[in-house]
Amino acid sequence: MRVSEGRVSVTVPEQPDAGKGADVFFNPVQELNRDITVAALRAYRERTPRVSTYLDATAASGIRGVRAAANDWETTLCDIDDDATALCEENLARNDLAASVRRSDANVLMHSEAFDVVDVDPFGTPIPFADAAVQGTKHLLCVTATDTAPLCGAHFESGVRSYGAVPRNTEFHAEMGMRVLLSAMVRTAARYDIAARPILSHATKHYARTYLEFDHGAKVANDCIDELGHVHHCQHCLWRDHDRGLIADAPDACPVCGEHLQTAGPIWLGRTCEPEFADAVADHATEEMGTADEATDLLATLSAELDTPTHYDQHRLCKRWGRGAEAMDTFIEKLRDAGYEASRTHYGGTTFKTDADVVEIREATAES
Ligand code: SAM
Repeated sequence: MRVSEGRVSVTVPEQPDAGKGADVFFNPVQELNRDITVAALRAYRERTPRVSTYLDATAASGIRGVRAAANDWETTLCDIDDDATALCEENLARNDLAASVRRSDANVLMHSEAFDVVDVDPFGTPIPFADAAVQGTKHLLCVTATDTAPLCGAHFESGVRSYGAVPRNTEFHAEMGMRVLLSAMVRTAARYDIAARPILSHATKHYARTYLEFDHGAKVANDCIDELGHVHHCQHCLWRDHDRGLIADAPDACPVCGEHLQTAGPIWLGRTCEPEFADAVADHATEEMGTADEATDLLATLSAELDTPTHYDQHRLCKRWGRGAEAMDTFIEKLRDAGYEASRTHYGGTTFKTDADVVEIREATAES
């Protein structure tokens, strides 16, 4: 099967059952993820001009690494599978590009060599690669996680085992997953006196993706740990609050309805995205990319998204309150008119962030 993405064209095997059982894995649905990766690599080189080396640690067909090489990155493609590395070689040759191809366990490679930018895009959880990836990264670590059920608390024990945090299955599940992933990555980096700060993160129902910029030193790593904490959430009235620190300080019950609260954590409570970086990445989502429009829209939403640790879904709230939903722009305008900050989020078309609590949202948006 011939696939063209961005400036390259590669061959990938037919994927009989959504990639399961194929000789080498390829997922066309991840084109948006790969387009944003290329745009982020371009933007990151402007931000940090001395960077030049990129490792595609779990390359499969090599499409990500081939695209990086086509954007003048000194690229290494690694995969543990012989068929995958053979296909990486073929796909580089097909595009007249040079890069280093390694058939290796990525953990072995990342323990022995460091790269300016490392990209870990594995099956499921990236955690088995996390320690080596932190040691093999000089500046920017890009991570995908596709195990959304453990991350967001739908598979509770698996989430606890993989991520060393308590996830909860809330109505803001994709953001819960992102913040559980970030917490685990930040704690992994902190073990090596490294601060790992997300400069871009996005989530869909299939995966979470984040770009972590590194800064070295115990003090900055401590500053990152200080941004971990807990979210307390009421499943009944959807009230929530958060507190920073590794020891949870939960109220006894929901202050609005008196019901039991669920606590998740330690999760990352800090920024998941730098708006200026999202804008810079959007400038590099250029027209040869198949998902350029979608990527540009997503990046604009990310850039404008309020920096709060959870979001709401208007439809869920209105259902709870027994009233009809309304146009998102009207709903958000009502919150702003009442003096609150409010923005849409990229987590869904009916989702929003605000500094108002659930009681204030209800009052501010009441039907007139
Ligand atoms: N990044 C690819 C893309 O954008 O199309 C998809 C990668 S696929 C989800 C995961 C790949 O990781 C598979 O090709 C698999 O062989 C490889 N892999 C699994 N364990 C590995 C390991 N320990 N070291 C290196 N590669 C590994």
